[in-house]
Amino acid sequence: MLPSRFEYHRAETLDEALSLLATYGEDAKVLAGGQSLIPMMKLRFAYPGHLVDVNRVPGLDGIEERDGALRIGALVRHHALETSELIRSRYPTIAAAAPQIADPLVRNLGTIGGSIAHADPAGDLASVMLALGATVVLRSSGGSRELPLREFLVDTFTTQIRPDEMLTEIVVPAAEPSSGGTYLKQERKVGDWATVGVAVALTLRDGRIARAGIGLTSVGLTNLEATEAEEALAGAEPTDEAFAEAARLAAAAAHPVSDVRGSAEYKRHVVDVYVRRGLARAREMAAA
Ligand SMILES: Cc1cc2nc3c(=O)[nH]c(=O)nc-3n(C[C@H](O)[C@H](O)[C@H](O)COP(=O)(O)OP(=O)(O)OC[C@H]3O[C@@H](n4cnc5c(N)ncnc54)[C@H](O)[C@@H]3O)c2cc1C
Repeated sequence: MLPSRFEYHRAETLDEALSLLATYGEDAKVLAGGQSLIPMMKLRFAYPGHLVDVNRVPGLDGIEERDGALRIGALVRHHALETSELIRSRYPTIAAAAPQIADPLVRNLGTIGGSIAHADPAGDLASVMLALGATVVLRSSGGSRELPLREFLVDTFTTQIRPDEMLTEIVVPAAEPSSGGTYLKQERKVGDWATVGVAVALTLRDGRIARAGIGLTSVGLTNLEATEAEEALAGAEPTDEAFAEAARLAAAAAHPVSDVRGSAEYKRHVVDVYVRRGLARAREMAAA
């Protein structure tokens, strides 16, 4: 199908993009990689009157550590995450997830900002960022604000972003020593969306768990943070028993639905298995 009529605007600067969003408000949509927006428009689930193409806006495609945080620009493509030496060497949860997103064509165009702003609970990166305790930076012509990702995600395809705002950056606390993490994704075939995805991040200190993060994909109305499981792990010894209890709590926090990818009961079971497996893998990395 063809999308409904729209006017195309190519912003050359961030100020120009924000001014266009302020002018057209609810009738405008940011166009990043187009990997979710264009299919939605073709299906007429979305019919914005104005598209604000931000692909040429400079300064939004950096991956760098600054001021105690990893800062990822909204226009960073999935492929750039997959091939970044900084990500590979210090952020194993992101490194594990990036190559599992879709296929190479989608990864060449799709952006982290688009993935998170789109708020599809089947998206992989939001779970990773929940596990890492990330925040998002939102800019408008009037200023900027920073929100924890867990507050930013409201419902399926719904976030706290205002029509005049753009997501410009994802901020992740800098990797600590003795840390590990991974992303485990159950998919029907390579390139598919997750039947279930589990992101884990673990930091050990003096033989105990200083911080644990667990994000879940495709088992709720948004990507979920398994907060009870995280709290149960904080301060505990990193034993198989502690991991089994956290996995039980994470599975209880999941709200999957039965569909072509599997029954709700099966998906909850996969959450349990993957949380245990992911934490054990993260423990190995943290201890190495
Ligand atoms: C065949 C296929 C398979 C896929 N499989 C997977 C998968 O397995 N896992 C996965 O995680 N994803 C998957 N995706 C989605 C892909 O990762 C998209 O890249 C991502 O969901 C959206 O990123 P985008 O840059 O293309 O955003 P766009 O499509 O350009 O935009 C998506 C939405 O976000 C808004 N938006 C974009 N950028 C910003 C911004 N900076 N600020 C504010 N709003 C913004 C847009 O207005 C739009 O509403 C798949 C897509 C396709 C086509």
